[in-house]
Amino acid sequence: MSPITRISRKILLIFAAFVFGLFAVSFVPIFAVEGAPHWSYGGAANPTRWGDLSTDFAMCEAGKEQSPVNITGAVKGSPAKIVFHYSPAPLVVFNNGHTIQANYAKGSTVTIDGNEYELLQFHFHTPSEHTIDGKASAMELHLVHRNAAGKLAVVGIMLDEGTENPLIHEIWQNIPAAGKTNKVSDRTINAADLLPKSKAYFSYNGSLTTPPCSESVKWNVLAEPITVSEEEIDAFQKLYQVDARPLQPTNGRVITLHRE
Ligand SMILES: [Zn+2]
Repeated sequence: MSPITRISRKILLIFAAFVFGLFAVSFVPIFAVEGAPHWSYGGAANPTRWGDLSTDFAMCEAGKEQSPVNITGAVKGSPAKIVFHYSPAPLVVFNNGHTIQANYAKGSTVTIDGNEYELLQFHFHTPSEHTIDGKASAMELHLVHRNAAGKLAVVGIMLDEGTENPLIHEIWQNIPAAGKTNKVSDRTINAADLLPKSKAYFSYNGSLTTPPCSESVKWNVLAEPITVSEEEIDAFQKLYQVDARPLQPTNGRVITLHRE
């Protein structure tokens, strides 16, 4: 090969790399919400950088009551009950580019220690975001609720590998492309089918586990897990291999175990 051919081949390679780079950069923000900064679980916008990506995300870095946490050393014995009043709702599956979410129709509520919150949506993380005594589960389900004053209460449920969950199977069957919502006609689901038998739970004050990491979120993690099959875990991880924020310091926060 002549030196000139070698040089022109090198120039061609650099040009090709440049063009590829342009495409890669222009494709990254495709699934981000319009106007919101891009964030992710890996790469340059990974969880350790969230606080620097936007002033709107400052709490991700500066917050002192962040989630998730390792649930350990819980204060035992509080009788404050959690009571679910979930009713059937149409199946609406939203693929938001970070997770798979089911949007829930109005009218389903949870009462926690006498306070009522309405179910807005539920979604999934893998592996689990919280750990219980240092143990992570294969996945974690978050049922997101809001009360009339706008305060959020999230119910977290650990998903261990085991028997298939038929409702999760059905949700997986109806996942749309990233950024899209699939309103499945003539199908109703009931989020009550995702609850374990025991309603014992751990509570603590935390935050959203995704940007903007807003605090004053009332966390309630059920002590008993439910199961999903290996196939269901694999199917989710094919879309989202990891969508879990790392553990955050408790900074002396009290975690309480509420027995049934
Ligand atoms: Zn979540």
